[in-house]
Amino acid sequence: MPNMSLNKVVMPEQDPKVRARNFEEVTLGYTEDMAVEEAERCLNCKNKPCVSGCPVGVKIPEFISRVKERDFYGAYEIIKSTNGLPAVCGRVCPQENQCEGKCVRGIKGEPVGIGRLERFVADYVMNGKAAPVEKPVSVSYTHLTLPTILLV
Ligand code: SF4
Repeated sequence: MPNMSLNKVVMPEQDPKVRARNFEEVTLGYTEDMAVEEAERCLNCKNKPCVSGCPVGVKIPEFISRVKERDFYGAYEIIKSTNGLPAVCGRVCPQENQCEGKCVRGIKGEPVGIGRLERFVADYVMNGKAAPVEKPVSVSYTHLTLPTILLV
């Protein structure tokens, strides 16, 4: 069952008294549970109106489906296939006039927080929480003679 809340999951922010004394980002980003809860608001529309609003054609319902499954690295790979700057776009794109402006959930209530989810996925990977890259298998050439090595 989708999450039929009319509002986006609220993103935590620094306390005003704290943020008045630093130059860090005001918004703190979603936790994993918040991201999954927001992703559950997506209806996985067949005609994907949100994608038509994205200048780089991010596969929005597909990446959000991965977030629902807590496959955050899979979501990242889908975003990265068409967008090389997800952490930036998740923060500064005018989503209200692009993807979120076309989201059907915005007809009655707030659209799915596509930008927030994109930011979450990018930050998740940048913070090293994704599956580590597999170490390549080392190859030994010690059993080969010099002429054979030159042919490898
Ligand atoms: S339009 Fe909104 S609800 Fe539909 S697939 Fe896109 S993000 Fe999900």
